[in-house]
Amino acid sequence: MKHYGTKVSNGLGLGKCVIINDVVPEVNDSKIDSTSIDNEILKVNNSIDECIKSYENIINSLIDDDLKQLCDFNKMVLKAKSLKTDIENNIRENLINGAYAITSYFNKKADDLSKSDNNYLKERSTDIIDIKNKVLKSFMGIKSFDLSEIKEDSILVAHEITPNILLSGDLSYVKGIISEIGGKTSHVGILANTLGIPAVFGIKDSIKIFSDGELLFINGNSSYVENELDFSEINNIKDLIKKELEIKKELDQISDKAYTIDNKYFEVCANSGDLVELDKIDKNKIDGVGLFRTEFLYLNKQVPPTEEYLFNVFKNFAEKLGDKKVIIRTLDIGGDKKCSYIDIPKEENPFLGYRAIRYCIDNKELFKTLLKAILRASVYGNISIMYPMISSLEDIKACNAILNEAKSDLDGEEKIYNKNINVGVMVEIPSIAVCAEEIIKYVDFFSIGTNDLVQYTLAVDRVNPHVSKYYNWFNPGVIKLIKNTIDSTKKYENKFTGMCGELAADPLGIILLVGLGLDEFSVNINSVNKVKKLISLLNYEDTNKFVNELLELDSSLEIEKKLDEFAKKNFGKYY
Ligand code: PEP
Ligand code: MG
Repeated sequence: MKHYGTKVSNGLGLGKCVIINDVVPEVNDSKIDSTSIDNEILKVNNSIDECIKSYENIINSLIDDDLKQLCDFNKMVLKAKSLKTDIENNIRENLINGAYAITSYFNKKADDLSKSDNNYLKERSTDIIDIKNKVLKSFMGIKSFDLSEIKEDSILVAHEITPNILLSGDLSYVKGIISEIGGKTSHVGILANTLGIPAVFGIKDSIKIFSDGELLFINGNSSYVENELDFSEINNIKDLIKKELEIKKELDQISDKAYTIDNKYFEVCANSGDLVELDKIDKNKIDGVGLFRTEFLYLNKQVPPTEEYLFNVFKNFAEKLGDKKVIIRTLDIGGDKKCSYIDIPKEENPFLGYRAIRYCIDNKELFKTLLKAILRASVYGNISIMYPMISSLEDIKACNAILNEAKSDLDGEEKIYNKNINVGVMVEIPSIAVCAEEIIKYVDFFSIGTNDLVQYTLAVDRVNPHVSKYYNWFNPGVIKLIKNTIDSTKKYENKFTGMCGELAADPLGIILLVGLGLDEFSVNINSVNKVKKLISLLNYEDTNKFVNELLELDSSLEIEKKLDEFAKKNFGKYY
């Protein structure tokens, strides 16, 4: 039986269900005798030191930088001066027991973080609780769940998988992670992605539905977990996993450019958003960065990043990419991305509200700081600027006016920048796609953001699960807007249309976009090789003819069915 949850990390995994019921120790507020104060404090300090040591041991045995960073964070929390003194004072002044003093200290810290408007800091509050439980267990002599006891392929299931669980030993037998709570931006979500472990979160009552020891199949690509598997299903799944591994190995070797069978070239770039991804980017395997999401540089902070900080990030990217392009999208804050220091009031319809360029135009100094940083970095590589959430020519003019001010400021400061930097816009709002032919006269390129274009064209909130069945990028209305946008740049030799929305990495989307003659695909770094491979299996002339026939159809279902047949015929095992 299949149980669907939310997508956290891709991949397929088969293994025995290991239910983690990591019992949180019960704590009461009983008082201690004044003669035991020193002993109680000593016990608390010893347990803190023991946990610090345990993190140090893990750090020394780790190769993965993200895990190391997390352990460093946990160690730093335990090494904070206030920790031991606050707990000691609490015990001395109130004669409360050590376990209660530990609990009070960490609960207060977690509570403060959970009230933050900043999603990143909010998520960190669960890390603090995780650390508290580790210290408590050590204080009470309770044994924690230990990964090193797992000796066969397993799928971990818990109400909440915490980083401490993943940090408790060797992960080689962990084939999947199922957590009832947590999200893609939680540390565990981020870790699962970095470690390449399939993860599906949010299946209600997972620890009750699945039983310890039963065989589970986790499909992180389609975000479901299957149990009650029979013999033939297990064999099919084993085949699927084997094929996926073989294909992954084969795709990892690809470093060529993407040409169709009849030699038409398509650019394949990566989407990126932070410095961690910079390490993962192999310049030789991509044609550039088609979307750099700057908001990630703002989200994890308590104050806005400085011009100097932003400049250094962009400069590093530009230098690493050499002459390959880096398209830096200006701040796309609002919608589902909130920041504590950015003052966007709670709105009824945040995706239709004060978002991205609308906020930036009104908050000129913040916007100009970012533009100046991009301009200064532009002399170190091949950087372009891209404005998100543009709905009219007036928006573009307002942004360009601020860009010109940023340039004059830099002239005054005698700082150099590329005076002819390319400026493009995202096509996310239907008005721009409809008027693409007029709008393109004012910009150097378009990048179609289908994640938003679909939600605005079909009036479907992209994060509302109740209407997700209406979110269909093969709707003929959406396809016509994409075609109109692509066609508008064809008349200019130096202008192009890219796509940085998720449709660009969808196998059926690739057929459609190759047929429509999209110039540049920009996709998640892990999808680059697969996109190149699929393009190389298509014949442009045939695909173009096929897609022109699709344009005559008026039903999304029919379009999808035809694309599916075409994919089966052309992509074979790669589909
Ligand atoms: C898009 O809307 O397609 C896009 C790439 O932007 P984001 O997902 O960041 O809104
Ligand atoms: Mg968008």
